[in-house]
Amino acid sequence: MKKIAIIGSTGSIGTQTLEVVRTNKDIQVTAISAGSNVELLIEQAKEFKPYIVGIWSEDKASLLREALSEFDIRIVTGMEGLLEIARMPESEILVTAIVGMIGIRPTIEAIKAGKDIALANKETLVTAGHIIMPLAKKKGVSILPVDSEHSAIFQCIHGEMNNKISRLLVTASGGPFRGKDRAYLENVTVEDALKHPNWAMGQKITIDSATLVNKGLEVIEAKWLFDIEPENIEVVVQPQSIIHSMVEFEDGSIKAQLGTPDMKLPIQYALYYPERRYLPGDRLDFSALSGIIIDTPDMDTFKGLSFAYRAIKTGGSMPTVFNAANEKAVALFLDRKIKFLQIYDIIDACMKAHSLIQNPTLDEILATEQWVYSYIEDYMA
Ligand code: NAD
Ligand code: MG
Repeated sequence: MKKIAIIGSTGSIGTQTLEVVRTNKDIQVTAISAGSNVELLIEQAKEFKPYIVGIWSEDKASLLREALSEFDIRIVTGMEGLLEIARMPESEILVTAIVGMIGIRPTIEAIKAGKDIALANKETLVTAGHIIMPLAKKKGVSILPVDSEHSAIFQCIHGEMNNKISRLLVTASGGPFRGKDRAYLENVTVEDALKHPNWAMGQKITIDSATLVNKGLEVIEAKWLFDIEPENIEVVVQPQSIIHSMVEFEDGSIKAQLGTPDMKLPIQYALYYPERRYLPGDRLDFSALSGIIIDTPDMDTFKGLSFAYRAIKTGGSMPTVFNAANEKAVALFLDRKIKFLQIYDIIDACMKAHSLIQNPTLDEILATEQWVYSYIEDYMA
């Protein structure tokens, strides 16, 4: 019996993780947690009977306590609650399905407690990869990628032992605005940006896919996961999301992982690695594929990717600035306070105004996040 705790169990990755648990029937869910969706959290708690249920806001905790009073379940709140879930002795794997760099502290706490991490929460690795990867190594903990591109790479390098990777080819769908120019993007709405061609995901990552910030975050994520320099990580556009990513080895051989777009595959692979299990769902039908388009990304229009390369090449606290500025800008866009292209303006302004900290500590990363938020507040005023 595998024992997993999930932070962010009510979101897109969280609910699909529970779907994988349902079909396999040999995973015990030790804890679940969410930001605000109490109704779904209560349903999940009744079905999976975890030891702990976490909710971010204290206000909503009483609803949970009431609804779950007949069960022997501990209710926890806030960051302390997330940390308690991260280190709980009953679990072996922490699934980080939470969105945003709020995941940093729980991820570090879980690694310190010797838990493997099934990592969906890329913002954490982007901002604190230099702390997390060495700590995981020291603790003998595995960081198992859930992001489809990184899972693809992880699957391609399985069995390659010490064979040298010369290049990672991270695929991108290009999002809903692929092929469009700045004039078109000027007036796109929240609804337009939320229409992803291939994947149904949480709102934040869907906007990130439209700006190509998501691909930028993934380049940085790949650097940390696979210890590859950013100049050896290339993004290729593959609009159907059939090729999930590719790895080129020293001898020029390229391995790719393909499949229908279904996040349950990378989630299940992470939970059972290195074992593969039957996964219900459609299989890839090559005869129905009219052709696999491969294209280069338009990094001048979709600046999310160029900002990410700039951030990771600068290093230190710059990836935190890139990420935190994007988190805030996307929230403002979703709130209809700014236009789509202003997301880029805000990230750019923050990155230009920032005084770099080399090798930031956890406290410095969190302080940089706060600096970004107050900078944007002034910028918007
Ligand atoms: P989502 O918005 O659907 O879900 C986010 C989850 O985090 C929810 O359960 C929410 O309640 C929880 N949460 C948010 N704030 C919280 C807080 N303060 N305290 C506790 N819980 C909180 O997001 P998602 O699409 O599932 O994405 C989650 C992560 O996985 C992101 O980092 C994203 O980049 C990554 N990811 C997602 C996909 C996908 O297909 N959805 C693919 C690859 C990577
Ligand atoms: Mg991805």
